[in-house]
This record gives sequence, structure tokens and C-alpha cells, in this order.
Amino acid sequence: AAPRPKRPDWLRVKLPIGPEYAKVRKLVDEHKLHTICESGNCPNMGECWGAGTATFMILGNVCTRSCTFCAVATGRPNEYDTDEPRRVAEAIVLMKVKHAVLTSVNRDELKDRGAEIWYQTVRLIKEASPATTIETLIPDTKGNWEALERMISAGQEVVSHNMETVERLYRRVRPQARYERSLEQIRRTKDYGQRTKSGIMLGLGETKDEVVKAMDDLAANGLDILTLGQYLQPTKMHHEVIEWIHPETFAMYREEGLRRGLKYVESGPLVRSSYHAEKHVNV
Ligand code: SF4
Ligand code: SF4
Repeated sequence: AAPRPKRPDWLRVKLPIGPEYAKVRKLVDEHKLHTICESGNCPNMGECWGAGTATFMILGNVCTRSCTFCAVATGRPNEYDTDEPRRVAEAIVLMKVKHAVLTSVNRDELKDRGAEIWYQTVRLIKEASPATTIETLIPDTKGNWEALERMISAGQEVVSHNMETVERLYRRVRPQARYERSLEQIRRTKDYGQRTKSGIMLGLGETKDEVVKAMDDLAANGLDILTLGQYLQPTKMHHEVIEWIHPETFAMYREEGLRRGLKYVESGPLVRSSYHAEKHVNV
């Protein structure tokens, strides 16, 4: 086999240390919460946690799906925790979070796909901390549009749903998802009157034409905000990095996206869907 490409210099980042980081970590542990920052080994933890921001993952840390890029464990989730919305809201107050990003595992085994917990979590945060703006990075409700409506109608400012990759790679990258269904979810979210956001990881073997086609599809389905970042392999068991995308290519995609009518495109090697998310509230 060909030698694996070495990680380029532009992906070197600071280690997550410092007093603010330690404080946030303690709060998260004390409230028995999960963050995508930790489970995804995100390279921006030093920056985000140092600034007092984190992405909370609700509805447990075991997922019914098995996306090949994702470090979250696949399996049968536990009973869901009806006290979780309260603990998330409390942590957000204590952490003085100005902009909260919430995400969750997929709970395909639940009839409502976890929509009620989503709804309650957003409501309780807004009650406890009315000035905190919220982005909800929601899972694919598998075509349960009633569940979608509940999930997105709790007063959050941004609703995101990540496409993750181009259409051709869905079978390998998101085997339980469907490209068209995710696009439809975004369109329905827009029709409901929400600010819409999505993310695509690059370096999984997609071509430029395929990325541009995905941007066309997203623009046609009412997407407002798009994030493009370099895929990093969480462990050797996960999908390999096929390509390190150059920063100039990211810049080119940003221009292409804006030309296609997307309102805001965050594009760069270290961009994650929740990176600089506080800026997306006013798009
Ligand atoms: Fe967490 Fe997102 Fe920041 Fe990464 S970019 S540390 S996942 S908030
Ligand atoms: Fe990971 Fe989300 Fe896929 Fe579950 S649905 S495996 S949490 S990316």
C-alpha cells in the first residue's frame, strides 16, 4: 500500500491547557454531561473551552448509527435521562455561556427520535438564561417530520444538520443516512422559518465537482450557512484520510459557495461545524 500522507503543518494546534479549560472540564464532569469536543477529540478544544464555550451532546453517548468517521460508540442506547435538560441548562448558567451549541446521537429506536428531550433542553436553557443564543445541531429524524418540527420549534436561533460528505460517499461514510432525506430535512427546516446550517468534511475522497454539486443542492434547498473542514481520523478503525485539502482550496470553496447563494461559508482546515458558531446567529 502507498504510504499514508503525513499530517501537514497547517493542522498543528495548541494543546488544550489553561485554567479556563480546567474549569469547564470540571463543570462538564460534575453535571455528568457529554461534549462532542471530547468524544470527537476536536483540535479546537484549547481555543473553544478556553473561551468558555463547548458543544454539549445530549441523549447519551451511545448512538444507534455507525458512521465511519465518528468516534461516538455504536450500540443500544440506555433509557433516556429526563433530568438531562435541567443539568444542561444549569451548566450553561454556571459556565456563563453566551452561545450554546447542542447536538445529540441518533436515537432511531425512539418513536420521537428524542425530539421531546431536544425541545425541553432548549426551553430550559432559554428559561434559565434568556440571553444565551442556541444552535441545535440535530440528527436526521429518518423522515419523521413531526419529530423534526418538535425539535426545531423550541426557540433556538440556528438549526443545523450536517450533510457530512458528498452523495456518492454516503454508503461508506453515513451508511444509515440518505443524501436526499437529509436535504429534505434542511428544506423543511427552512420552510418552517428557521435559520439553516450544514457542514461537510473534506478529505474523504470526494472530488471538487462533487463538493460543488453538494453546495448547489444545499443552496437549492434553502441552506443559509455552510461549514467546510478537514476530516481527521479519530482512530485507526475509522475511515482514513484520503487527502489533506490545502488552505487555498478551502478558500476557493468558500468563494464558490457564496457565488451559489449561500449566505455564509466558514471554510478552512480546522473548521468544525460548531467552530465560530456564535457568528452564525446573525446571518
Ligand atoms: Fe467543541 Fe466545536 Fe469548539 Fe471543537 S469546534 S472544541 S467541537 S465547540
Ligand atoms: Fe456519530 Fe452522529 Fe453518526 Fe451517530 S449519527 S455515529 S453520533 S455522526
